[in-house]
Amino acid sequence: MTQIPDAMRAMVLEEPGRRLILRQRPVPTPQRGQLLLRVRACGVCRTDLHLVDNELPNPSIPVIPGHEIVASVVASGEGVSRFAVGDRVGVPWLAWTCGECPSCRQGRENLCDNARLTGYTLDGGFAEYAVADQRYCFAIPDGYTDAEAAPLLCAGLIGYRSLRLAGSRVRRLGLYGFGAAAHIVAQIARHQGSSIFAFTRPGDRRAQAFARRLGAEWAGGSDERPPEPLDAALIFAPVGALVPAALASVVKGGTVVCGGIHMSDIPSFPYRLLWEERELRSVANLQRRDGDELLAIAPQVPVRTQVETVPLDQANDALDRLRAGDVEGALVLIP
Ligand SMILES: [Zn+2]
Ligand SMILES: [Zn+2]
Repeated sequence: MTQIPDAMRAMVLEEPGRRLILRQRPVPTPQRGQLLLRVRACGVCRTDLHLVDNELPNPSIPVIPGHEIVASVVASGEGVSRFAVGDRVGVPWLAWTCGECPSCRQGRENLCDNARLTGYTLDGGFAEYAVADQRYCFAIPDGYTDAEAAPLLCAGLIGYRSLRLAGSRVRRLGLYGFGAAAHIVAQIARHQGSSIFAFTRPGDRRAQAFARRLGAEWAGGSDERPPEPLDAALIFAPVGALVPAALASVVKGGTVVCGGIHMSDIPSFPYRLLWEERELRSVANLQRRDGDELLAIAPQVPVRTQVETVPLDQANDALDRLRAGDVEGALVLIP
């Protein structure tokens, strides 16, 4: 039996808009149905950055961010049956849903009125330990290290949900913002037979080369038009001006999906960009089915994540690099 200490190190957001602070916190006690987890790796997601930058409403302050947790089960509360001590699990953004609100009753738990969210309204994984409701945890496929698996849990999962919502007849797929999500989605979409057209910040040659290495047929700046019209486009960069740009690049009946939780304002644009039955939609949160499907597909592709590990106490530096776009693939904190 693993010795569980009383205290742990955690990076805590005590005031939105300010840097995280390294604190000693009591190790949480798992309640009924919860796992106590030793965090092995936790990815740094753009949503963590929006939280820290005070761009998201009503966080539970103070809060420990982090919702791409790969961890070992070290203890469990009463009534836990899905996982045992020693199992490796992943914890995503969706931490709990009520099961009773109209969205839950319609099978749309991602839109639950009362959802609790990891690293936002509940403490997350920028810490040595965390607790999580067993029903919302996933088994992590073998063949991925802890750090490699971490970005699958949000970047991969939201990317996969965005790809699914783009429809099934996507031969030419545009990806706006070639970061953690796009680098995973590109591999899945190619596996499904799509050609990838990658859009980066104008002049970002490094990101464009990264996209080509992952099999993009074309990579260029977001101010450029693709060499051929796209069937669908996924927008992962938090830049509202990409919405009319993406609409202008998709064919009649094409779909544009906004994958992020926050975006700068969308500039006004002529109706003709939307006309001809183009669709514009967003993706919010995840359903557990997205995780089950992604974690089954990822080893078949096989999706290879590109990660760079960073010590837990350097979480602020990792966030700074994400803000600056100075990341190839994903950054992962190691407690
Ligand atoms: Zn609900
Ligand atoms: Zn995320």
